[in-house]
Amino acid sequence: MSDQNPVFIPGPTNIPDRLRNAMHLQTRDHRAPDFVETFAPVLHDCKRVFGTDNGKVIIFPSTGTGGWEAAICNTLSPGDKVLIARYGMFSHRWIDLCERHKLDVQIIECAWGNGAPAEKFADALRADQYNEIKAVLVTHNETATGVRSDIGAIRNAMDSANHSALLFVDCVSSLASMPFEMDKWEVDIAVSGSQKGFMLTTGLAILGVSQKAITAMETAQLPRTFFDFQDMLAANENGGFPYTPPLQLIFGLKESLAMLFEEGLDNVYARHHRLAEGVRQAVNAWGLRLCANSPELNSDTVSAIYVPEGFDSNQLTEHAFNTYGVSFGIGLGEMNGKAFRIGHLGSLTDVMVLSGLASIEMAMADLDYPVTLGSGVRAAQEYYRTTARKFR
Ligand SMILES: *Cc1c(COP(=O)(O)O)cnc(C)c1O
Repeated sequence: MSDQNPVFIPGPTNIPDRLRNAMHLQTRDHRAPDFVETFAPVLHDCKRVFGTDNGKVIIFPSTGTGGWEAAICNTLSPGDKVLIARYGMFSHRWIDLCERHKLDVQIIECAWGNGAPAEKFADALRADQYNEIKAVLVTHNETATGVRSDIGAIRNAMDSANHSALLFVDCVSSLASMPFEMDKWEVDIAVSGSQKGFMLTTGLAILGVSQKAITAMETAQLPRTFFDFQDMLAANENGGFPYTPPLQLIFGLKESLAMLFEEGLDNVYARHHRLAEGVRQAVNAWGLRLCANSPELNSDTVSAIYVPEGFDSNQLTEHAFNTYGVSFGIGLGEMNGKAFRIGHLGSLTDVMVLSGLASIEMAMADLDYPVTLGSGVRAAQEYYRTTARKFR
C-alpha cells in the first residue's frame, strides 16, 4: 500500500497536506485565550457551510453516528413518534438508533436506489391528525447507494400537510460538497462530521441546530450528558467546551473552512459535480449501471455501481487493493457483493479521479469483466477536457 495513492472510499476522505499540517500541533491549554480566539470564529464560519444565519453550530468530539444520537436525545422523549424512510444502510442505521432509544419509529420502506419519497411523507403527515409525529428524519445523501434526496421537497411535503414536526437531516456525506440550505429548507438539525467534505480526520460531529430544536430541548426527556446541547451552548458562549476539546481537530477545521472559502463554496460544489459527472460517463462507457434509480438522484459525492451478473464486487475491491494499492468502497448491506462504490468527495482533482478510474479498470480487466480497458478513462477524459476549469 502506498500512501501516495488517494482513497476512493466515500469517507473518510483524502486529507490535504495543508490540513495535516494544521492538525500537527503540540498540546495547548484549551482554557487559554488563543483557543477561545480560534474556536469562536470556527463555530461562526461553519454556519455558512450549513447555509444558516438563524441556527447555531454545535461540535462534539464524536462521529456522524454520535451526531444522530445528539439530535435525538436533545429534542425527543421516550415513546415519541418519528417518521423516516429506509432506502440504504445509513437511513437503516439511523432507524436502529431511534429504536434503541425507545422511540416509536414509523418507517416508510423504499427500494434501495430510491430517494426520500416526498409524496409518501406528505401522506403520512396528513394522516397524523393528532400531531403525534415529533420529527421527520431524512438522509440527504445515502452513501450506500449514491443517492441524493431533495430536502426542499420534503420541506414542501411537511408544509403541504401543515405539520409542525421537527426536520432532522443527515448531511454527513453531502455537507461541504453539495449545496445545503439549512435555513431555506427549515432544517431543525443537520448532522455532519469532520471526515468527509471537511477533509479532516474522523473525530468531530458537526451539527447545525435551529431555534425550534433548541426550544424542543426544554421538554425533551431522553437522557443525555456528554451530548447535552445546553451544556455545550453555555460553554461555547464563553468560547470554551464543557469538557476537553479535540484541539487539533478544531485547528484543522479552521484551516478546512479557510480552504473551502478560498475556493468558494459554489466552486467546491461545481467541482464535485464535474468530478462526479466524469465518473458517471465512465460507468456508462463500461456498460455498467448505477444503483441510483434515476439521474436526478445521482449523488455528486459517491457513485455506487452494480457489477455485472455473476461477478462479486467484494472480489473486485479486494483485488484493486491487493494488486494496485487503491481502496474503493464495498457494497453495504443488501448491495454487498453486488456493487462497489467510488467515493469522489473532499480533496480531489480530475487527475486523481482519472487515476482511480484507470485502477479499477485494470482490476476489472484482470478479473475478466466484459469491460474494454481504457473505455471509462477515455469517456471521463473527454468530459474533463471539454469542461476544464483553467488553472490560469
Ligand atoms: C459517513 C456517514 C455517517 C457517519 O458515520 P460515522 O462513521 O459515525 O462518522 C452517517 N451518515 C452518512 C450518510 C454517512 O455517509
